[in-house]
Amino acid sequence: MLNILISNIGFGEAAPDALKSLQKNAQLTENKEKKRFSEEDFIEKIKDSHILIAGTEKITKSVLEQAPHLKLIARVGVGVDNIDLEEAKKNAVSITYTPDAPSESVPEFTLALILNLIKGISISDHKLHEKIWYRPMGRMLSSFKFGIVGAGKIGSKVIQMIKAISPLSDIFFYDPYVTHISNATKCSLERLFRESDVVSLHLPLNASTKSLVDLNLLKTMKQGSYLVNTSRGGIIDENALYQILQTKHLAGAALDVFEIEPYNGNLTELENCLLTSHLGSMTHEVRKLMENQVSEDVLNFIQGRPLRRPLNGFNFVGLK
Ligand code: NAD
Repeated sequence: MLNILISNIGFGEAAPDALKSLQKNAQLTENKEKKRFSEEDFIEKIKDSHILIAGTEKITKSVLEQAPHLKLIARVGVGVDNIDLEEAKKNAVSITYTPDAPSESVPEFTLALILNLIKGISISDHKLHEKIWYRPMGRMLSSFKFGIVGAGKIGSKVIQMIKAISPLSDIFFYDPYVTHISNATKCSLERLFRESDVVSLHLPLNASTKSLVDLNLLKTMKQGSYLVNTSRGGIIDENALYQILQTKHLAGAALDVFEIEPYNGNLTELENCLLTSHLGSMTHEVRKLMENQVSEDVLNFIQGRPLRRPLNGFNFVGLK
């Protein structure tokens, strides 16, 4: 019998049939405690597993070294920065993921964060819950220049959404691999940070983007501008952001992702930093789609059929 370890929290809640079809084909070890797996948890549980269904928890070299039977990692989501890809490749572990599933939901969420930030919604909400009638002065989208870093599936949709609700806004984008996007002007990263009123990040985390947004770059941003990150923690140097928000050089920032999650760092002290707990793809619709897609590809793998959504360069021979 094949063993499938499920570290992804809540897998099967949105698509119970997806879980049932896996149960018919393999022995499942579920994450019943709904606890984010640490390296120790993985090492304790993964040694007999052939397939791992994972969220964003870290799948390190040590974890993979303790998984001699592992042949497939199925990522419920998009980013694969949590997996030691070099070690996975060395061990010929295939990877499948769900790259298209969140590409509507994360742009919607990004827009919600931008509107919340510039209208002071959360700040007013917190005050009113303390019975304080506080009326922060907001801004309007139409007066803004937007800077979108990373114009892939999510970034390009954010551009379309901004243009749809605020046709007068100017939009810049920076993406080394995309030359043209309608309704937006390509420019350098430096110009984008220097001239935008709102910078929104939509690029992957990897060795070249780690701490890309550092103190030097943050200092070049306009006085009173905003920074939004729904991509990956680690792209922004969080200590540098803390410093710049404290000085009020930036009017505010909104972060959905953090270098270490769950996050409990010092940005929680700042009123002008809106924080959410990696919610970009947490909609019922997206979860259901991702769980179905993962289950479909896991069954493809078990039954010797080609994977539908393999990660480029990680499509090794299946189990049969
Ligand atoms: P994508 O691969 O479609 O797009 C990423 C884009 O970034 C590509 O066009 C790529 O060329 C560009 N890029 C790569 N390096 C860059 C660099 N140095 N500077 C600027 N651009 C660069 O990916 P996507 O589906 O649009 O996802 C974007 C990000 O959103 C990823 O980090 C992903 O992990 C994250 N994400 C977050 C959530 C969430 O819940 N918050 C959900 C899904 C995805």
